[in-house]
Amino acid sequence: MKTIESWHEEQFRTEIRARVVEALGKGADATRMASTLAASADNAQSFCVGRPYACAAGCPHCCVLNVAVLLPEATTIALWLRESLSGEELAGLQKRLGTHRSWARWMDDDERILKQMACPLLDQYGACSVHPVRPLACRAITSLDSQSCREAFRPTVTDEDRLVPADLFRKAVFDAAFTAVASALRQVGLDDRSIELGTGVLAFLEHPELVQAFLGGERMPQTLWL
Ligand code: SF4
Repeated sequence: MKTIESWHEEQFRTEIRARVVEALGKGADATRMASTLAASADNAQSFCVGRPYACAAGCPHCCVLNVAVLLPEATTIALWLRESLSGEELAGLQKRLGTHRSWARWMDDDERILKQMACPLLDQYGACSVHPVRPLACRAITSLDSQSCREAFRPTVTDEDRLVPADLFRKAVFDAAFTAVASALRQVGLDDRSIELGTGVLAFLEHPELVQAFLGGERMPQTLWL
């Protein structure tokens, strides 16, 4: 079994990078990209099996924080939503994502906490609606105490740090996976920039042609970041 003792950061990064380069260097397609991302997340998770955490569906307090995703993470989520939702559900989600893009994308974490601007991908039960394809950054964050989360993410103005006991090993592993995937994208000539989660997903839902453009090595239009 993989453990904290068997994790060697540089070796882990090299493995992830090599696997992503091998998969995408042959000429990427959206399905291969999604499965490669999933394999990278599974690889990271395999070092975290059995580690304690307090997070559960219905405990969405930290889902007000800004999340940065790599472009292929956004395309994978957009494609998954297209396959999973009805036309009506997708239209409703796109509307919520549009509102989010207009308001929340400009807010820093404190402002989002104060206004309780939750992630537009959170469902009505307080669960992640894209859990199987959720971003690496979301997988990196696990709390060890849900009461601390409730306190830390209360919408109050405070000068004090919002402290939550977290699994820092898990964070290090998933952060390393994120930077290794970014490095592999750069190596195979794909756009390696990150983008705010909701904004990126909406861009690929509104403009599905951008998925092929991304896979073809085009740099995504700068307007996505404006
Ligand atoms: S993608 Fe899912 S886990 Fe990540 S912030 Fe949104 S609702 Fe929370």
